[in-house]
Amino acid sequence: MNNQHKPLQNGLHVVVVGAGIGGLACAIACRRANPPLPVTVVERAPEILTIGAGIHIPPNACRVVSSLGLLDKLKQAGGYQVKGFTLRRYQNGNVLVEKPMGMRMKTEYGAEWLAIHRGDYQGVLLEAAREAGADILTNAEVIGIAEGIGESFGKHMVVLKDGKSLVADVVVGADGLWSGVRELVLGRSFPPVETGDLAYRGTFTREHLKSFKNERIDQLMEAENVQVWLGPGRHAVFYPLRNKTEYNLVLLVGDDLPEGVRTSQGSLEEMAANFEGWDPILNTIISCLKSALKWKLLHFKELDQWTKGVIALLGDASHPTLPYQGQGAAMAVEDGAILALLLSRLQNQGISDVPDQRNQQLSDLLLLYQDLRKRRTEVNVAGAVDTRHYYHLSDGDEQICRDKELASLPDSAWQGPCSFNWGDAEYQKSLLGFDGLADAERTFDEWSRKKSRQANI
Ligand SMILES: Cc1cc2nc3c(=O)[nH]c(=O)nc-3n(C[C@H](O)[C@H](O)[C@H](O)COP(=O)(O)OP(=O)(O)OC[C@H]3O[C@@H](n4cnc5c(N)ncnc54)[C@H](O)[C@@H]3O)c2cc1C
Repeated sequence: MNNQHKPLQNGLHVVVVGAGIGGLACAIACRRANPPLPVTVVERAPEILTIGAGIHIPPNACRVVSSLGLLDKLKQAGGYQVKGFTLRRYQNGNVLVEKPMGMRMKTEYGAEWLAIHRGDYQGVLLEAAREAGADILTNAEVIGIAEGIGESFGKHMVVLKDGKSLVADVVVGADGLWSGVRELVLGRSFPPVETGDLAYRGTFTREHLKSFKNERIDQLMEAENVQVWLGPGRHAVFYPLRNKTEYNLVLLVGDDLPEGVRTSQGSLEEMAANFEGWDPILNTIISCLKSALKWKLLHFKELDQWTKGVIALLGDASHPTLPYQGQGAAMAVEDGAILALLLSRLQNQGISDVPDQRNQQLSDLLLLYQDLRKRRTEVNVAGAVDTRHYYHLSDGDEQICRDKELASLPDSAWQGPCSFNWGDAEYQKSLLGFDGLADAERTFDEWSRKKSRQANI
C-alpha cells in the first residue's frame, strides 16, 4: 500500500480517467457541488496541451458551462456568440439558407451558441478544475481497476502504469474514443467503427486571408457566422476564432484510409483535389492550410452498457459521434455535470458506511445515470449520421428537394417541421433546449421516492 496516492479528504472520492473536455467538466461539477466531492483526474499525457482547432459550444452545453460559472471566462478566452449558420451550394458558394442564431438561441433554447478555439476551451476548464480544488495528475496512465484490499477493502483501486494506485469510491471513464475503461466495463474489446468519412482540419491567420485582397473572402471573415459548403459526398466548414485573428477550416470527405489506420499525413494536392470544381473562394481558403493530416472519423451506434458496479463511462468513451451536429464534446459536458449532480444528491441523502451497501447504492445510481444519458446520446449519434446524408447529397431530385425546403425555412420563422433535422424546430428544441441538469434533479427525486417506497414495503 506504500505506493498509493491518498484521497484528498474524506467523502465520496471520485477518480476521473482522462482530462479531456468531458473529464474536466465532470471534475469541476464535482467540486462545485455542495459540499464539494473530492475528485482526482488522472491523465496519461505528460501535460494537458491546450491545442487544436475550433469547436462549438451549442446552447445545451453552454447552459451547463454557465451553471458552472464559466461563461464569462470562456468569452474572455475568445468564445463568441455565433450570429448565424450559412449553408452554401458547393459549386459557387450561393447561399442555400442562413439560419439566424445570435440572441435567438438564448430566447429559444435558454443559452447562447458559442464558438471557441478548442485549446482555449480546454484551458479554461483546466484552470477552473484546479481552482475548484480538483487534484490533476498528469503522466498518469490507467492500466486497470481492481477491488481494494486491506484498509481499502470495499473501495476500488485505479492502477497506474507507474505501479501506483488511487483509492476510489467511483471511477469515471472519460478516456475518449479508444477508452480502456470501456473494455473493463464491457469485459471485452469494443472498438469504434468507421463512419465512412475523414476530416482535414486546421487554422490560419487573418493576415493570410487578407493577403488575397478578395472582397468575398473579406465578407466571410467579418461575418461571425459558421459557413458550410455542401456538396456530393463532402462538405467544408469555416468560421473565425480568437477575435477574428485566426480562422478555422474543417474539410469532411470520404474516408480512403486503410481499415485500422486512424490518422495519416496526406498531401496538400490530394486534399485540395477533393474540392476541384467547388466555389473558387473555398479553394482559395483551402490553400491556406499548411498540413493535410487525415483524421478518420469513428463512432458506434449503441453501447449496451455504460456502467459496471461503481464504474461509469462518459463522453467519447460511451458515445463517439460524427461531429456534424457539433455535439460530441457538448454531450460529454452534459454527461459530466449530470453525473456529478447525481453523486452529490446521493451523498447528501446519505451513503452507507458498510462497503457492500455503499457499492450497491452507487451502482444503482450509476444505472440511473446511464438511463438518463444513453437514449439522448444515441439520438445525437443517429442525428449526426442523418445530417451526413443531407449534407452530402449528390446533385439530383433529393438534393433539389432539400434545397427548396431549406430555402423555405425562414418563412416558418424556424418554427416549423423540416425533413432535415437541421431545420426541424421540434428536433432542434429537443437537442439544444434540453436542460439536462433540471431533468436529472427531477429524475433523482422520483428515483429516490420510489426507492424509499420499496424500502417501506
Ligand atoms: C473534426 C471534429 C470536430 C468536432 N467539433 C465539435 C464541436 O464543434 N462541438 C463538440 O461538442 N464536439 C465536437 N467534436 C467532438 C469532440 O471533439 C469530442 O466529442 C470530445 O472532445 C470528446 O471529449 P472526451 O472528454 O470524451 O474525450 P477526449 O477529449 O478524447 O479526452 C480523453 C482523455 O483521456 C486521456 N486518456 C485516454 N486513455 C487514458 C488512460 N488509460 N489513462 C489516463 N488518461 C487517458 C486522453 O489522453 C485524453 O486526454 C469534434 C470532433 C472532431 C473530430
